[in-house]
Amino acid sequence: MKKHSNVAFFIPHMGCPNMCSFCDQKAISGESEPPKPEYIADQCRDSLGSGIDGKNSEIAFFGGSFTAIPYKSMISYLEAVQPFLGENGFSGIRISTRPDALPEDILLVLKKYGVTAIELGAQSMSDKVLMLNRRGHSAKDIAEASERIKQYGFSFGLQMMYGLYGSSKEDEEYTLSECIRLKPDTLRIYPTVVLEGTHLGELYKSEEYILPSWDEMIEFTANAICRLKQENITLIRCGLHAEKSMEKRILGGFYHPSLKEIALGNLYLKKMLGWAEKNNDILKNRAKGSFVLVETARGRSSLAAGHNKENKKCFSENAYGVCLKISERSDFPDEMMRISFCSGKTSGIITETLGEEVYDVFKIT
Ligand code: SF4
Repeated sequence: MKKHSNVAFFIPHMGCPNMCSFCDQKAISGESEPPKPEYIADQCRDSLGSGIDGKNSEIAFFGGSFTAIPYKSMISYLEAVQPFLGENGFSGIRISTRPDALPEDILLVLKKYGVTAIELGAQSMSDKVLMLNRRGHSAKDIAEASERIKQYGFSFGLQMMYGLYGSSKEDEEYTLSECIRLKPDTLRIYPTVVLEGTHLGELYKSEEYILPSWDEMIEFTANAICRLKQENITLIRCGLHAEKSMEKRILGGFYHPSLKEIALGNLYLKKMLGWAEKNNDILKNRAKGSFVLVETARGRSSLAAGHNKENKKCFSENAYGVCLKISERSDFPDEMMRISFCSGKTSGIITETLGEEVYDVFKIT
C-alpha cells in the first residue's frame, strides 16, 4: 500500500525582515543555506519514485516566511515543483508564512502555481505579546490575512505559540479563542522552546523571562485539544519538530517529541481521577483480587496508561493502590472510555461490576 507522506523543505530565514525573539530558523531546520530549486525537484522526483501516495501527500515549504523571500526565489521554488503536481504527482503545495506577507497579488500568484494550503504564523493574538517578541505585525494583520486566505479558497492553517515572553494566562486563552474565532481548518500549537543565540535566550538567561510550568503548559494544551475538537478544527501538531542540531541549542522551554500524547494522556487521567474520587468508598472497602477496568477505543490504551505509564501510577496512588487494567474495545469510538470496578472473577469471567461510568474523553467538565 502506498503511504501518505508530505515532502517538506525548510527555507531557513531567507529574506525574513524580522528577528522574532524566539526564532533561529537555521537551528530549527538544521540547514544553514536555503535549498536549491534543483535539489527540491530531485527530492520530489525521488519521493514519488519511492512509492508514496502522492494523491494524499503535499509538497511543503516551511521554516522561514515563504512569501517574504525574494520574489524571484519564491517563483523558482514554485516552478521547480510544477512537474510533480497533478494526476500522477502530489495533491498540492503547503506553505507557511507571516501575516503581513500575504497581499492579494501574492495570493493570486500562489493560486496560479497550485498552492493549496497556507499556514499563518500568528503566534499570539495579543498586540502586547507580539510587540514584546518583536514580531513586527499586529493581531489585526493576522485577522485580515486570515480572511483573505479563506476568500481565495485556500485550506487555512494557523500556528500559535504558548508561553511567549510577556504572555499571561489570559493572553494564552485569548489567543486560542481568537484563533478558533478565525475558523482555521488546522491549528498547530508550539509551546515555546528557548534557543541559544536568540533574544529570548538572553532574556531567559538574565531571568527576565520566566517560563510557565510544564504542568500549566500541559493543562493548556489538553484544554485546547478539547476545544478544537468541539469546533472541528484539526490539531496537526503540538510542539516543535526539531533536527538533532537544534537540540544542542535548547536552553529551556517545552521541547518533547511526545507532547501531544502527554496532553492527551492528561485528559484520560483527569477522568480517571474524577471516577476514583466518586467511587472512593468502593475502592477503600474493596475485597482482595478486585481491580479497576479502564476500556478505551482501539489504539488508545497507551494514552490512558500515560507516558511511561505515569497515569497508571498516579491513579493507583489516588485509589488506595488498587490494581488497574486497561483494555481496548474495537466497538468504542475514539473519544470513549468506560471505567468500572470489578469485584469478582470466576474462571476468568468478571462476575460483578460496580460504579460503571462512560466518558467522552474530550468533553470539558
Ligand atoms: S518571521 Fe518567521 S522566520 Fe522570520 S524571524 Fe520571525 S519566526 Fe523567524
